[in-house]
Amino acid sequence: METATSKPHFVLVPWIGSISHILPMTDIGCLLASHGAPVTIITTPVNSPLVQSRVDRATPHGAGITVTTIPFPAAEAGLPEGCERLDLIPSPAMVPGFFRASRGFGEAVARHCRRQDARPRRRPSCIIAGMCHTWALGVARELGVPCYVFHGFGAFALLCIEYLFKQRRHEALPSADELVDIPVLPPFEFKVLGRQLPPHFVPSTSMGSGWMQELREFDMAVDGVVVNSFEELEHGSAALLAASAGKKVLAVGPVSLPHQPILDPRAASDDARRCMAWLDAKEARSVVYVSFGSAGRMPAAQLMQLGMALVSCPWPTLWVINGADTLPGDVRDWLRENTDADGVAHAHSKCLVVRGWAPQVAILDHPAVGGFMTHCGWGSTLESVAAGMPMVTWPFFAEQFINERLIVDVLGIGVAVGVTRPTENVLTAGKLGGAEAKVEIGADQVKKALARLMDEGEDMRRKVHELKEKARAALEEGGSSYMNLEKLIHSSV
Ligand code: UDP
Repeated sequence: METATSKPHFVLVPWIGSISHILPMTDIGCLLASHGAPVTIITTPVNSPLVQSRVDRATPHGAGITVTTIPFPAAEAGLPEGCERLDLIPSPAMVPGFFRASRGFGEAVARHCRRQDARPRRRPSCIIAGMCHTWALGVARELGVPCYVFHGFGAFALLCIEYLFKQRRHEALPSADELVDIPVLPPFEFKVLGRQLPPHFVPSTSMGSGWMQELREFDMAVDGVVVNSFEELEHGSAALLAASAGKKVLAVGPVSLPHQPILDPRAASDDARRCMAWLDAKEARSVVYVSFGSAGRMPAAQLMQLGMALVSCPWPTLWVINGADTLPGDVRDWLRENTDADGVAHAHSKCLVVRGWAPQVAILDHPAVGGFMTHCGWGSTLESVAAGMPMVTWPFFAEQFINERLIVDVLGIGVAVGVTRPTENVLTAGKLGGAEAKVEIGADQVKKALARLMDEGEDMRRKVHELKEKARAALEEGGSSYMNLEKLIHSSV
């Protein structure tokens, strides 16, 4: 009989760039601990409370999980103190500095892992590294333990990326306005515009092609990929990726699922309590929840078009706005006059604006919510599936256009609002006003997409409900994600 201490010790180092990497990797740590494996999650001082509170909620008394904090050398890289995530840096010009600091953080984590190697009970048996922590491979090889990567992407997007790297079809495009045909999952036809491809294939990224090459080499060298997904969702993408990349691809999600019923009102923020009280007063399936991830911002003029649609459509809307305080004054005035933008929820209000952090998993699980307008970040996509919630898709950038095709064309659980252009400067776009602001989607187009979902979406609702059931089964004992967690544990002994 295996005991907890005979199980391998997992060291997880989430990519600190974004909350959307930290949350699912923390959840993976909690799942591994629930299978009896000891886990250490290493992060920075600013991110540590986020990780610790999630661990405390998921595993009473933090059973089996240690959260270790290692300083982040922000000042040495010319960043203001506390800039320990990309959404916290004041300007896009500081992105290279953030990556320099993250390298310094990685070196400190590697030193820590080497020191732990001398302590029998703390010795790492397997490292799971967030996608940009390329330093992790070196230390894993030194310690003679497996190294897995976690990207935060789904298996379908990773498969597309793998095929693009191998087949290089995008290089033959005469312009970024042409469609690339990626034959990933026949008989589904899968095409995206050149400009909608992930940054790996866009020549000018802020980090340059050398950095992208380093990430690719890291991906090719690691022992396996851990994916927040479940095998029944992505039409065999994980197995196809494993075959193409020649390594293990283990789908262990949806990792948010064990959190779904948890919203402890005492631990919740004022914003969270306000959202839930507002939803409690609404009819079943009547509300549209609108959120574009942990940091996504759209240009102010585009945000106004969206806002006009949300206040004039027939459904109550719960709208999370990132960076609302930095919007131009006229937009803030408009929000104040037309929505509950000051966080005051009037009993019969039509559009509740949340300026802070919304309890997304609990919102999606609330019976009053009937649809989710999302930027198709993979975390949000999977949370929507896990809640059985159909989507209106509004991708911004990264692999989100690929996820949109999966949601709309392959799975048939969403309606595309019709975006063709990536949003530029996603972290700062809301600050742009006047001539710089670009509008691609008018208010009428938004309302049409919402109507297709809310009035005519029964088929999508049925399909996503079936997927919700499969998601639950995947994590239950003997289910596909459950078994993949066991494989991960056994391959690291
Ligand atoms: N999220 C949340 N509340 C918010 C905004 C985001 O809980 O107000 C969470 C959401 O539940 C998801 C993550 O942040 O887990 C966003 O991840 P995703 O991959 O969808 O998007 P990204 O932030 O990477 O663009």
